[in-house]
Amino acid sequence: MAAPTIWVLGDQLDADGPAFAGYRAGEARVLMIESRHAIERLPFNRERRVLVIGAMRRFADRLRADGWTVDLRQAPTLAAGVLAHCDEHHPDRLVVAHPSSRAGLALTRRLGSALPVPVEVRDPVGFITRPGEMDDMLRGRQPRMATFYREMRLRLGLLVDDDGAPTGGEWSFDQQNRRPPPRSRDLGAPPPWLPAADDPLDAALRQEFAGLAETGAGGERVMAATADEAEVALERFVQTRLDGFGPFQDAMMDDDWAMSHAFLSGPMNLELLSPRRVAERVAGALDDGAPIQSVEGFVRQVIGWREYVWGWYWRRDWQGANALEADAPVPAALMGGSTRMRCVQVAAEGVEARGYTHHIQRLMILGTLMLQRGTRPADALRWFRASHVDAAAWVMAPNVLGMALFADGGQMMSKPYAASGAYVKRMSNHCRSCPYDPAKATGPTACPFTTLYWAFLDRHRPVLARNPRMALSLRNLDRRDDLPAIRTEAQAVGERLDMGEA
Ligand code: SF4
Repeated sequence: MAAPTIWVLGDQLDADGPAFAGYRAGEARVLMIESRHAIERLPFNRERRVLVIGAMRRFADRLRADGWTVDLRQAPTLAAGVLAHCDEHHPDRLVVAHPSSRAGLALTRRLGSALPVPVEVRDPVGFITRPGEMDDMLRGRQPRMATFYREMRLRLGLLVDDDGAPTGGEWSFDQQNRRPPPRSRDLGAPPPWLPAADDPLDAALRQEFAGLAETGAGGERVMAATADEAEVALERFVQTRLDGFGPFQDAMMDDDWAMSHAFLSGPMNLELLSPRRVAERVAGALDDGAPIQSVEGFVRQVIGWREYVWGWYWRRDWQGANALEADAPVPAALMGGSTRMRCVQVAAEGVEARGYTHHIQRLMILGTLMLQRGTRPADALRWFRASHVDAAAWVMAPNVLGMALFADGGQMMSKPYAASGAYVKRMSNHCRSCPYDPAKATGPTACPFTTLYWAFLDRHRPVLARNPRMALSLRNLDRRDDLPAIRTEAQAVGERLDMGEA
């Protein structure tokens, strides 16, 4: 007798998700597809393949152990896999949760026309809001993160007192999340949960994918690949690392790639761990004495930033966004070349070793360097997607194009994340072991960040002058009497970045 097929995409690994609702093991078959096209088309970071394909295979095993019949198949494309499955098993309908990408959604629509059976697209899995819901919540107001985040807190009743006031008296403790790193060699946080280094499936996958175009030498998975692993990672974070997360969440250190971060983005993006569960667990830590700036700072990342980025992914088509008409290539140091810029070296080493840099390295080192250099947004996006283990399409488009590169002209963020070396010096210890001087914009030891910062303000002054939040920066620019020298230096810095000689 024909039965439904639940089609589980690679980032929908939740047996309690919307696609499974109403079915028990034995009542529907589960289809999972390893698309060769998806695996091979991009030079993914090696550890992203290990994480995603490994998580899919482990999830299939778990479903089978729970009594489900699972068709986990390899196919040239997702569409080919679905068609082959339908030819073989003749389901009476195909049920799938709303894909997390525009390409995935378009595919479900094409299949809906091509297949002889109905394709039922249910709610997305892995998010608190649905596509389009951000605008409904904001009732016509221009989306800004602070407004949206407050609405989310009220809606979920998270960190909200009985009288509707924010717990701790503030909606955001952002000002207390910006402590510079200590003078010590590392932060001294307890180590994060990490998977076993000799996991046999990880080793087999590295072998299986050897030879594919990829970035990163890899060999070190840092994110959970099963729901059980994700729970352990969450508990380890809450019980041992959350307290230190708040004050130092924006700090960077030469010898501490993990700092106090949680490493939960990967499992959340695969729906091994629901964002609501993470936010509620962290909020609950207040009762155990966790500091409010840590708890609120982390909850803000999950129900604020993560959902805001998800909302923006669906709010506009990001293809072709290039409001600042940037046309430079990705810096050679990030394409296998070298650099003497210590801050960039450390981030590039993180990508190479484990496909991971933490959020402030991504935004304020890698993103700001590309913003100020004028890297082509499409190239920057391709690089970020190829470099990080948690680089889902919906995350990277708004984060790279809207937040880091201002390629949407300021729709998503109210001002560009431009910064000189002074910011890096304040928030990291990188500058201490760098041959460049963050205070200098010109001369043989000029910091490339500082040179490019002033040149960026100078180059885009007409656009930036329309933004009141840039007024102070532009007044400081006006005080400089060395702009001709900065323009010349910026040209030389750009050439050195292109050549891998910066
Ligand atoms: Fe980076 Fe400039 Fe500091 Fe060197 S001096 S680490 S290039 S910000």
